[in-house]
Amino acid sequence: TALTGLPLKILLDQASSLVHEVLDVDYCGILETQPSYGSTKLISGMGWKPGLVDIAHLSGSDSYSRAIIVGEQPVVVHDFHSQKQFTMPSLFREHAVVSSAGVNIPGQHGPWGALFAATRTKREFTYDDVVFLQLVANTLSSAVMRNDTEQQVRHQALHDTLTGLPNRALLLDRLQQHFARATRTGVDVAALFIDLDDFKPVNDTLGHEAGDELLMAFAERLGTLVRPTDTISRLAGDEFVVVVEEPEGHSVSRAIAERISDGLSEPFRLSNGMVTVSASIGIALASTADNPETLLRNADAAMYQAKRSGSGKCAIFDETLHTLHLQHLQLKQALRGAIDHNQLRVLYQPIVRVNDHSISDVEALLRWEHPDLGLLSPKEFVGLAEDSGLIIPIGRWVIDQACQAASQWHRIQHRKITVHINLSPRQLSDTDLVEHTKSALQRHELPGHHLGFEITESTLSTDTEAAIATLNQLKKLGVHLSIDDFGTGYSSLSYLKQIPMDEVKIDRSFIEKLGTDQHDQAIVTAVVRMTDALGLQVTAEGVENQRQLRQLQDIGCNSAQGFLFAQPTTLEKITTLLEKPSTIPPVEGQRLHLSTDVSPPTPQWDFSAHS
Ligand code: C2E
Ligand code: CA
Ligand code: CA
Repeated sequence: TALTGLPLKILLDQASSLVHEVLDVDYCGILETQPSYGSTKLISGMGWKPGLVDIAHLSGSDSYSRAIIVGEQPVVVHDFHSQKQFTMPSLFREHAVVSSAGVNIPGQHGPWGALFAATRTKREFTYDDVVFLQLVANTLSSAVMRNDTEQQVRHQALHDTLTGLPNRALLLDRLQQHFARATRTGVDVAALFIDLDDFKPVNDTLGHEAGDELLMAFAERLGTLVRPTDTISRLAGDEFVVVVEEPEGHSVSRAIAERISDGLSEPFRLSNGMVTVSASIGIALASTADNPETLLRNADAAMYQAKRSGSGKCAIFDETLHTLHLQHLQLKQALRGAIDHNQLRVLYQPIVRVNDHSISDVEALLRWEHPDLGLLSPKEFVGLAEDSGLIIPIGRWVIDQACQAASQWHRIQHRKITVHINLSPRQLSDTDLVEHTKSALQRHELPGHHLGFEITESTLSTDTEAAIATLNQLKKLGVHLSIDDFGTGYSSLSYLKQIPMDEVKIDRSFIEKLGTDQHDQAIVTAVVRMTDALGLQVTAEGVENQRQLRQLQDIGCNSAQGFLFAQPTTLEKITTLLEKPSTIPPVEGQRLHLSTDVSPPTPQWDFSAHS
């Protein structure tokens, strides 16, 4: 037991020399069974020809070594030449062994190996000799078992329990070794950051067990798509990293990324169905980073970029990407503060009747007055707000502002204007949307039909049933509902029967070439006819010139919105516009003299009080 604190290999060697000395034999050895069954290895020993220990394999076909390993009892052979019971190991024959005594070394799961002593001259091994061998073997046995347990614990600490793949800690350790070596060898490595595109829906709709099954199946398939020398690791959730050597002038990592994408075209067979997923992959070279953490961060940034350009894409990290990623993170951080610091504005753009240019409705459009970057359009931050969930409080704030504005026009100016608000997918699936809308209408004493929500076709497609339920509830409040950007999504009017819609807004891209493009002209005509037939209102978006306006009149589209009439403008300006005159003359090039129109209004409403 005094020996047990030592590493196993040293302990084995000490046991060999102890046996060699105490029993005063020519040879002694320790055999270890090998995972490939039927073979054993001389892992430690004394007296043998040089170069055999740790190398010599006993085939296991001799019955002697098998007997000492598998047998419960010590096996003693006084003279190999005068017995018929055991065949001799070739190792013994080469060393002219005559007598031998051996005992087994039990391991955690069956026999681990054997300890034996052998002589060139005939020797009668005594009872005491065998007891001594047995004692040494017992000590070795407990050391072996403890070593196994330690290895298991170490394995568990460094591997992912679900897939058995190296975890983040082991990956970082292996990358660290690369960084230590890189300057010497000059070989670069690439990290491929892989993120499944559709994991969340699988997990949400099929359940966690299916999710786990998918991750395991994916890990397994990944193993078949990369080379055995490449490291595969699971970082967390559906994030995997593959590390490959990237010799200069080759594009190993790109080829592997392609192979992974191709390899995912085949569906995964899970216990309750088939699932096909794609993966977004970001690649970064170790030479672009100083340490393993940065390398992973760079690969992650590239993956993020790949994801933004659609699913199943691959992107390679470079510095500009990195800067973009950082800016993105900073922007997200700043957006959190935007609400509290009163940096959000709502602008209003009139929607006019085509026949007399009078204002019928107004659309509320969000802006963020960023302290350093200036006025940001929704394109630059609504996506961020969606991702982070901030769209919910921001959206509520917009609803409140718009209701307050509309109520003011009603009460003070007696203008019955409907104010339209854009809803993004996350807002529509917010279970409190209906309640919040109701209370905003009540608070500002605004009749429901003077509030409108605009929803794109793609928003409707995310969770159609829940969306329809919400829309029906909103309809009960009297809220006006429009399909926004019509023509850019499914462009199917069939779902309009299921959804309580009042209006279709034709996307700007179709209006743009009205009067010059026959095709667009035909589409707009068809949409106007169909909406007429369905009893829906129709509005043309993005009307910028007289040519387009004339075409709309010809087609019979009776509502329009665009720079030809007015830019989105501040609450004060729109309020003035609503006073007099009640019609706005169409003026081409409005964009030019109104674009700097946005002076920040003094905040009229403290957000925090209502959130
Ligand atoms: P949208 O709903 O299609 O809004 C119309 C967009 O077209 C507005 O851009 C408006 O400024 C622009 N526009 C209007 N007339 C013309 C024109 O004649 N020519 C051109 N080229 N553009 C015109 P904006 O304000 O940048 O908003 C962009 C998008 O952001 C909106 O598209 C809407 O989808 C979204 N959005 C705006 N406000 C909000 C909001 O409060 N919440 C949410 N969730 N989304 C919003
Ligand atoms: Ca809109
Ligand atoms: Ca639109």
